[in-house]
Amino acid sequence: MSASTETKSTCCYCGVGCGVIITAEQGQITGVRGDPDHPANFGRLCSKGSQLHMTSTPLIQAQRRLHQPMLRQRRDQALTISDWDSSIAYVAERISNTVAEHGPDSIGFYVSGQLLTEDYYLFNKLARGLIGTNQIDSNSRLCMSSAVAGYKQSLGSDAPPCSYEDLDHADLVLIIGANPAYAHPVLYRRLEAARARKPEMKLVVVDPRRTDSAQDADLHLAIKPGSDVALLNGLLHICLWEGWTQAAWLDAHTSGLEALRDSVRDCTPEQTATLCGVSADDIYLLARWFAQSAASLSLYCQGLNQSSAGTAKNSALINLHLMTAQIGRPGAGPFSLTGQPNAMGGRETGSMANLLCAHRDLSNADDRAEVANFWGIPEIPAQAGSTAVDMFEATRKSKIRILWIVCTNPAHSLPAQAQVRAALETAELVIVQEAFRDTATAAYADVLLPAASWGEKEGTVTNSERRISRVRAAIAPPGNARADWWIASQIGLAIQTRFPQHFPHKQTLRLAYDNTEQIWNEHRELTRGRDLDITGLSYRLLEQSPQQWPCPEGQHTGQARLYTDFRFAHADGKARLICTPYQPAQDKVNARTPFVLSTGRLRDHWHGMSRTGVTPAAFAHQPEPMLEMHPQDMEARFLKHGDTVCIRNTRGQQIWRIRANPALRSGMLWLPMHWGEEFVWGNANGYTGLGVNNLVSPALDPKSFQPELKFSTVSLQKQSFPYSLQLICRADPHQIPAMQRACRQLLRDQPYVECIPFGGTASGIALYACLQQAEPVLFAALTEVAGLQQHAHLRYQDAQRSTRLIRLENRQLHTVMQTGSQTLPDWLVQWLKEAKEITVPVSLLLQDKAPAGIAVQRSVQVCQCLGVSAAQITQYLEQQETPATPEAEQAVLLGLQQHLQCGTRCGSCVPELKQSIRALRQKVLHVA
Ligand code: SF4
Repeated sequence: MSASTETKSTCCYCGVGCGVIITAEQGQITGVRGDPDHPANFGRLCSKGSQLHMTSTPLIQAQRRLHQPMLRQRRDQALTISDWDSSIAYVAERISNTVAEHGPDSIGFYVSGQLLTEDYYLFNKLARGLIGTNQIDSNSRLCMSSAVAGYKQSLGSDAPPCSYEDLDHADLVLIIGANPAYAHPVLYRRLEAARARKPEMKLVVVDPRRTDSAQDADLHLAIKPGSDVALLNGLLHICLWEGWTQAAWLDAHTSGLEALRDSVRDCTPEQTATLCGVSADDIYLLARWFAQSAASLSLYCQGLNQSSAGTAKNSALINLHLMTAQIGRPGAGPFSLTGQPNAMGGRETGSMANLLCAHRDLSNADDRAEVANFWGIPEIPAQAGSTAVDMFEATRKSKIRILWIVCTNPAHSLPAQAQVRAALETAELVIVQEAFRDTATAAYADVLLPAASWGEKEGTVTNSERRISRVRAAIAPPGNARADWWIASQIGLAIQTRFPQHFPHKQTLRLAYDNTEQIWNEHRELTRGRDLDITGLSYRLLEQSPQQWPCPEGQHTGQARLYTDFRFAHADGKARLICTPYQPAQDKVNARTPFVLSTGRLRDHWHGMSRTGVTPAAFAHQPEPMLEMHPQDMEARFLKHGDTVCIRNTRGQQIWRIRANPALRSGMLWLPMHWGEEFVWGNANGYTGLGVNNLVSPALDPKSFQPELKFSTVSLQKQSFPYSLQLICRADPHQIPAMQRACRQLLRDQPYVECIPFGGTASGIALYACLQQAEPVLFAALTEVAGLQQHAHLRYQDAQRSTRLIRLENRQLHTVMQTGSQTLPDWLVQWLKEAKEITVPVSLLLQDKAPAGIAVQRSVQVCQCLGVSAAQITQYLEQQETPATPEAEQAVLLGLQQHLQCGTRCGSCVPELKQSIRALRQKVLHVA
């Protein structure tokens, strides 16, 4: 028996960049825990990171992963299994011939912030160096490009100035356009700890939603969606008016003060309050706190970035820091939270259409010449490539003919999905390099290249605080999957050797590497003398401890904080104060489209769920894909929980079930960003439902080219269907993918279908479909998928209303299936999911009303680590005395944690526990 091994690596989800220790045995990952020595997390992991090993079990490796290259020569053929030699030769030939016929810009590379820095570097070299095109962009375009553009125009360099340790030094933390309690949980734990140590620290949250982060704040400004610039300009106006700016400091270290002062002259508190929909007093209070605190730190993410004014939002926030000299000191500065694990690596290697290696500028001829000389080629083309949204538009117009998509799922994540699908259909060749075989994008592939994934790869990533960590392989990839850099290298070499006539000046370009360290060392050398100089960061040093950049040769530790001498990265050393006039979002609220649709994250899921979606337990906190709306808006439209509605705009329409969320502003709708057509689909009214991004605006920021994923306007109508069909069926996790596929196949043409795994006490699938007519044949076929035809079951048929089938196993509900005009009662669904022993006569299971004396309510799992449900928490809290003070609330929290253990492991559910306790107190205050 082989011994168990432990390998230090990094979490593959968010930009916090937590260190992990992976346990493996006999070639399988068996566990994961936080690395106590990693400075990003000191041993902590959140609910996603702590379940990483569950996404790599032998069954998932066998069933969900892509093991072999697959290809088809013609679009009307099915993909067949191939081998690496044939696939590499085929791709090399198609690319070379297309370049010969249509030029280098006919090839597009759409890569990912999930790639490691070495992968990024090699794809960049392949595209710009060998093929000779700048048509390379990353899904980081959807994530951080506005932060990049903001830093560059304001401070002179794409360099986040702060460190996580600044949370310990801040006196005021402003979270704007971010919900770190969900999106960056381990960092949020650090903020909680800092506030516990320093109770006088202020927390302000600016967000149209009352998120878990906002619930914890001393001040929450629930501004109108998209009005961030108006707010930030209003804050500047107050600071100037009140004399809270630092005139001498501004004179010495910035330029542009006069113009900025003029531009915010009319941004009075009253006008700002009207534009933002919050009180002038709250705006004034925030301005005072921010300017007068000893150290103000701001944390921001997609709420600022994903906007047609994303760059302006970033610079407006940096203006506020500069005007109040809240930068370059411990605890002070603008700090963008990176969405993806290695979005920063993509920026460092210049793997985006308008960037170049090591923070060089593609539009700068000297920068291009430096890289060309370094690579030993005549030139880097000057023409910028297409950015993400435009790359697909260029493909739709046949300017790009071959799309190579690496480690990302654009058929889920890009806005205006109908256009994206049209582009994928138009492309002459779609190459998809992926670890998981059933993503929405994989369905469009002509060539599928199996990629190694987390726990199987070597390289480096850079987190939000510029800290570079090693990523290490604990096991070999399954089947014939290979590291992303290796695939790029092999195809590049095949192009060089087989088609030299098409690339005559590129034969000396190095594309052969034995390992990632060689690639890393080449990338390091390109950073020499640059703002991100990492010539001091060898793999050997990084093995000892992750380090922040810059760290030039001769140094052994990186730099925690930038601009401490107030010398900024512009040539004259001064930061720029940028005028940012407020521009509303591009979609307009009007009588036709009166609602603003916004999207965001769930706590336990990641992006398109190709990884988190393989573990049923990850759905226990939010088991249903639902559109959220303010309860008063629902009441005004006679909508109730679970009703189906159709939202529409000029881009399409989509059916969703709806639920109330008082945390939203009136007039807003909100959807989790994760629900793609792999989980929710439908065909209704002549439109095909394509998931959450179907209706989302493709409007771009003019500088960052980041799309406006957070603000799209839609209409909403209730849409009733005469019939529904539900199937809640227990199944072992390994059976779930096949069941999902079978349901998709059967119900492909129904108006609305959701098919979601469930996990926790029991696992299985929960299917809900809306039907236009009774579908007895479909119902019968589904009984087969559910295994009901092979097992005895109860049957209840009411000719007027519904048919219900129930299968019991070991005195527990195993399967419940129903079709008709009624939906299944909550108590029955809950009993099944909670694997309750049936203690009532089975005939009672056929009625809608819960059996007497049995109160079973809809309840989700709040603590994923320890399986504690909302119902258990409520039951405990109802037995406690209502806390009268914040201190008493804390005591109740401790009691709750002792009693049920919830929130004692990863802590991701702690904000929700606090909310439940606070709600109890507020209920009592309200009654009083
Ligand atoms: S906060 Fe969670 S998702 Fe983000 S890196 Fe850490 S463990 Fe991974």
